[in-house]
Amino acid sequence: MPATVVLGTQWGDEGKGKAVDYLADGMDLVVRYQGGNNAGHTIIAEGRLLKLQLIPSGVLYPHITSVIADGVVVDPQVLLDEMTQLSEAGIDPSGLRVSLNAHLIMPYHLELEKVTQRFLGKNALGTTKRGIGPAYADRAARVGIRVQDLYDEAILREKLDVVLWEKNQVLTKIYNRMAMPAERIVEDYLAYAERLRPYVADTGKLIDDALREGRHVMLEGAQGTMLDLDHGTYPFVTSSTPVTGYALASAGVGPHHVDRVVGITKAYVTRVGAGPFPTEDTGEAGEQLGERGHEFGTVTGRKRRCGWFDAAVLRYAARLNGLSELCLTKLDVLSGFPTLQVCTAYRVGGETWDDVPPNQTLFHRAEPVYEELPGWEEDIGEARALEDLPKEAQRYVELLEDLGGVPVTMIGVGPAREQTIVVAG
Ligand code: GDP
Repeated sequence: MPATVVLGTQWGDEGKGKAVDYLADGMDLVVRYQGGNNAGHTIIAEGRLLKLQLIPSGVLYPHITSVIADGVVVDPQVLLDEMTQLSEAGIDPSGLRVSLNAHLIMPYHLELEKVTQRFLGKNALGTTKRGIGPAYADRAARVGIRVQDLYDEAILREKLDVVLWEKNQVLTKIYNRMAMPAERIVEDYLAYAERLRPYVADTGKLIDDALREGRHVMLEGAQGTMLDLDHGTYPFVTSSTPVTGYALASAGVGPHHVDRVVGITKAYVTRVGAGPFPTEDTGEAGEQLGERGHEFGTVTGRKRRCGWFDAAVLRYAARLNGLSELCLTKLDVLSGFPTLQVCTAYRVGGETWDDVPPNQTLFHRAEPVYEELPGWEEDIGEARALEDLPKEAQRYVELLEDLGGVPVTMIGVGPAREQTIVVAG
């Protein structure tokens, strides 16, 4: 009764969309377990480009039940818009299920994030401004509104009155904005509730029942390990917990079900927004990686910072998540570099660190120690087996496996679904 966890091992944007889509084929349930509409999976299916920000990519398959679990924050307007988009593309979203325990993104979350990030000026975190951080903050402060509250109007009004009293003081008195009337919000959210009624469910029970029946469940993470609220480069992180442990907490199932943890790792590294990034290359190589890899945010359109592969980060992700295998993406982007650098350790103040240093100040100052490898010229987009790759590319894959201590089972050699090498085990 296996559950598979699939997550990013870097700072997000590892190409999870395609990998998840590829793996989803053999699954019965695909569960999104954290984040909100800040994920931006890009999938090319049947020649169609789809951009999903909230709904799990499993929705593309009619045999899959797609689940938005407890730990996701849901903007109901975005959810309904994505469902409409799917219907218009001929994809039936009726298999989607949304947890009654999921927290809702409210209009004041969006407004507050906008004004507070503006106020922070150069110290702003560079968030996606979708209200996700403020929704998670309210969840922790126990003033959040959950999906289930939409189906009890008296409770919804009561909770909104409590929370709006404070939010409106902050909006009007600190940020000089307009107050938000409860009535308008209640009206909008009750209308969403009606439209969402067929999709809301006790998803914890649904997932557990599926596992007991021996069905295959995939727990799909968003963002990446280095953006984890606890284990990432705080405060330059996301406001939820992408690591494996949280997949279980959010889905509401025990760890004994998980027999596979797939780490999605890009053949180089990118990062959006501020925060430490030891292998960042601000020169020509970084520029080329960005151009060849089309490294622009799917949600924000922002140019991503780019750099060489960081094996210390991979080892850290392997440890935190208990990775059982790696899916290496975008190897094709490295074609044409005469030499390639792989960071094997860091130098900080005369000391060598094989791991991500436990103290953020050290990580900010970490200088990469590189191993240089010969590159390859060939376009590898047609490779379908490890043996089809130039020997330099094979050597690159082997080095990452050795340094990370985790076997590579899939390799992406292009954006299309079929541009995937499945490594025989
Ligand atoms: P995600 O949110 O983790 O899916 O990452 P991105 O938003 O960065 O999307 C990944 C982009 O890379 C999409 O445009 C994919 O089509 C593309 N992509 C995924 N895998 C590969 C690959 O192996 N090679 C190339 N060249 N592109 C890929």
